[in-house]
Amino acid sequence: MKVLKFGGTSVGSAERMKAVADLINDGSPKIVVLSAMSGTTNQLVQIAETLYQNANQEANALIDALHDKYKQVVEALYLTDDKKKQALELISHHFDHIRSFTLDLFTIYEERAVLAQGELLSTALFQFFLEEQGIPSVLLPALNFMKIDENEEPDTAYISKNLKLELEKHPDATLFITQGYICRNAFGEVDNLKRGGSDYSASLIGAAADASEIQIWTDIDGMHNNDPRIVKNTFPIAELSFDEAAELAYFGAKILHPSSVQPAKQKNIPVRLLNTMQPQAQGTTISAQTGKGGIKAVAAKDGITAIKIKSGRMLLAYGFLRSVFEVFERYKTPIDMITTSEVAVSLTIDNPKFLAEITRELQEYGQVEVDQDQTIICIVGDFIADRSGSGLKIFKALRDIPLRMISYGGSKNNISLLINTTDKERSLVLLNEGIFERNNSNA
Ligand code: ASP
Ligand code: MG
Repeated sequence: MKVLKFGGTSVGSAERMKAVADLINDGSPKIVVLSAMSGTTNQLVQIAETLYQNANQEANALIDALHDKYKQVVEALYLTDDKKKQALELISHHFDHIRSFTLDLFTIYEERAVLAQGELLSTALFQFFLEEQGIPSVLLPALNFMKIDENEEPDTAYISKNLKLELEKHPDATLFITQGYICRNAFGEVDNLKRGGSDYSASLIGAAADASEIQIWTDIDGMHNNDPRIVKNTFPIAELSFDEAAELAYFGAKILHPSSVQPAKQKNIPVRLLNTMQPQAQGTTISAQTGKGGIKAVAAKDGITAIKIKSGRMLLAYGFLRSVFEVFERYKTPIDMITTSEVAVSLTIDNPKFLAEITRELQEYGQVEVDQDQTIICIVGDFIADRSGSGLKIFKALRDIPLRMISYGGSKNNISLLINTTDKERSLVLLNEGIFERNNSNA
């Protein structure tokens, strides 16, 4: 059994949906996980925001506009009047449900119900299309097996047990379609795995079903060695280890949801990143294999805040770092990067929600300095097996860029640098020239 996930752009129009149907119709057993059609979740978020503000007339206009868009999809997707009629009824049912929220109090529960409609719509429309084409398939309701616990972490035991029960209901079926992103929470309410969470759904489903492979289909030919929006001459990386992929996904490579590596790694299931626009392209394979050493890729994460705590009390003292970390723990704020000297510690966070409170509490331990608008440049590879002087290449390339923090040795796969966000684009270009382009011309 394989799990194939198609993102919003891969199912973003009637045309794209037809292409997906062609791709999956080869008779081999698979579970297909779909995102909402591209743009839909953003529009649902906007509808929810409008409903929170009680701007019901505006909300109704947005709902009607989205409904119209789906009517056009129905018109373009199906051949027969019967299927068109069936699909129009189905979408009306979903949009009436969304409209019903304009009539009453709007809270987080209603918001989550609204956000769930995108994946419910895309999968139902796709299932109808397969039916019309005579391709046998079963629509599995993700709300019957996908679940998070009270800490908003996936309840993997529940997911495996209930996914198996759902699959067993259809012993002869080989093709299953299900929703990404949506789930139930610890209270049984409709919830979701946060924006971009369909990748995570696919990986959790792959792990639960002991899949032989998890494929994430998008509109780019794999994870690139640098940010293709900023740097020319980037190329897809053929092979990455689970750890390298997790670092890259977390530190900026937008193609994969960062949490989605873990379930696959635990079950040692390879994850392939493939391109619906170029299905023959090799893409990126993420597996336990490390491949050859050296630098594989560079990514950047913006919106970082650096905090420095300087204290004479740190000198030769123990327990200082614990006190500092406890402040962050109290505010449930994860720390990304840390560097220390004998009298100071610098660390970074990407969620500044409690910055004022954290800073106030840290002042008890020393002098605190805060720098906002920082960027982490994450350089990923296998630096243990590396004998080619990666450090030298990196620092030579960035000789004119002020570096605020440097973190090396935390894992064998990552060197992180903190710079001002204003230096990001230049740094990515310089690193590309210094690491990859020179490599290529030397080869
Ligand atoms: N539809 C959701 C979103 O746009 C989930 C996903 O596509 O991964 O965030
Ligand atoms: Mg995505």
